[in-house]
Amino acid sequence: MTRRVTIFGATGSIGCNTVDLIARKPGDYDVVALTGGRNVQKLASQARALGADIAVTAYDDCLEDLRATLSGSGIEVAAGAAALCEVAERPADWIMSAIVGAAGLPPGLKALEQGTTLALANKESLVTAGALLKSTARESGARILPVDSEHSAVFQGLVGENPADVERVIITASGGAFRDWPLEKLANATLAEASSHPNWDMGQRITIDSATMFNKALELIETHEFFDIEPEKIEAIVHPESLIHALVGFRDGALMAHVGPPDMRHAIGYALNWPTRDHLPVERLDLAKIAQMTFREPDAARYPALAQARWVMSEGGLAGAVFNAAKERALDGFVDGRIGFLDMAAVVADVIEIMSGEGLGLAAITLDSVQEADQAARARAEESITRRHR
Ligand code: NDP
Repeated sequence: MTRRVTIFGATGSIGCNTVDLIARKPGDYDVVALTGGRNVQKLASQARALGADIAVTAYDDCLEDLRATLSGSGIEVAAGAAALCEVAERPADWIMSAIVGAAGLPPGLKALEQGTTLALANKESLVTAGALLKSTARESGARILPVDSEHSAVFQGLVGENPADVERVIITASGGAFRDWPLEKLANATLAEASSHPNWDMGQRITIDSATMFNKALELIETHEFFDIEPEKIEAIVHPESLIHALVGFRDGALMAHVGPPDMRHAIGYALNWPTRDHLPVERLDLAKIAQMTFREPDAARYPALAQARWVMSEGGLAGAVFNAAKERALDGFVDGRIGFLDMAAVVADVIEIMSGEGLGLAAITLDSVQEADQAARARAEESITRRHR
């Protein structure tokens, strides 16, 4: 029987890898909707190749272009944030959430309200509104499956285990583009340098977030939210080879590691085929050739984002929304050339300092409260960026 699938963020790095896996088994899937942003040509060619019912761009000003490119194909087109939520309500068996940033939250939430299985790459959703996503899934009976490689690894490590036996979870970090740079050079790191990852081929924003370790900070919070594991049981360790994605430690001292090549098609394919496994076109590791794997403690001075993640976990409530929004705005400031590489963590620290007295931990988590906190944090971050503008 074919499965109905929808891919949010189809034109991005995770989206293209998902399209790749689906295109390899055309008889197995009916593609309901594909969504993208400004890359209209790619979205249109994906929609034609997979025979999607509808293609949606997030941007109204891209609609005419999309319509013209798909003219005569019989594929419906739409644009805008409301259209993204509308297609999330179309019946599907499996939805990939791979929009980058907080924009991924509303359509992901809509998909969960329908009871649809949601493969979640968009970690920002869990960081900003984990409690809301989980309660929505519980009420509708929907399943959330992790797609982040570390969380897929933990998920696989927990199969058949009693969660009460888990003593610790260790997620690995490559250390990003600047892991071996002297600290004093970091202030002048350029956008091009920060946008190149030593091991993984990913979208630009997550690549820069790897260099600052904001990505790992989000993943610490994601681990806490996804698996309901206490923050003090969650660790991050630098593993430059990126072959072990995560380890789960049990109370008998056993440490189960998930080992695989740095290829997101494994985690995406695991979520696509879950609860079964299927052949995946990923490299098989030759352990003798690899010969060794190394690990080191993350340097707190180099990666202040990790301590900021600990603040989010201890504060709870809307702290995740504030942290993520400040981080996204600071990243915009770096990409625009208005602030330097190290200023990103400093901007987030400014926002945390200003907003930490505002009772964030006590606030109820609704879509409205999350979006309000997000907007307030972006405004504070913008003020900090303006002050720091070089
Ligand atoms: P990309 O930047 O490569 O792709 C992002 C996708 O979102 C594109 O389809 C883009 O459209 C679309 N998009 C951008 N802005 C908006 C918006 N405002 N509204 C709706 N759609 C938008 O990102 P990645 O694929 O790297 O990452 C996607 C998500 O997956 C992120 O949350 C990331 O943290 C997570 N993730 C990524 C991993 C990776 O290996 N890349 C690994 C683990 C998690 P367009 O390009 O057409 O403008």
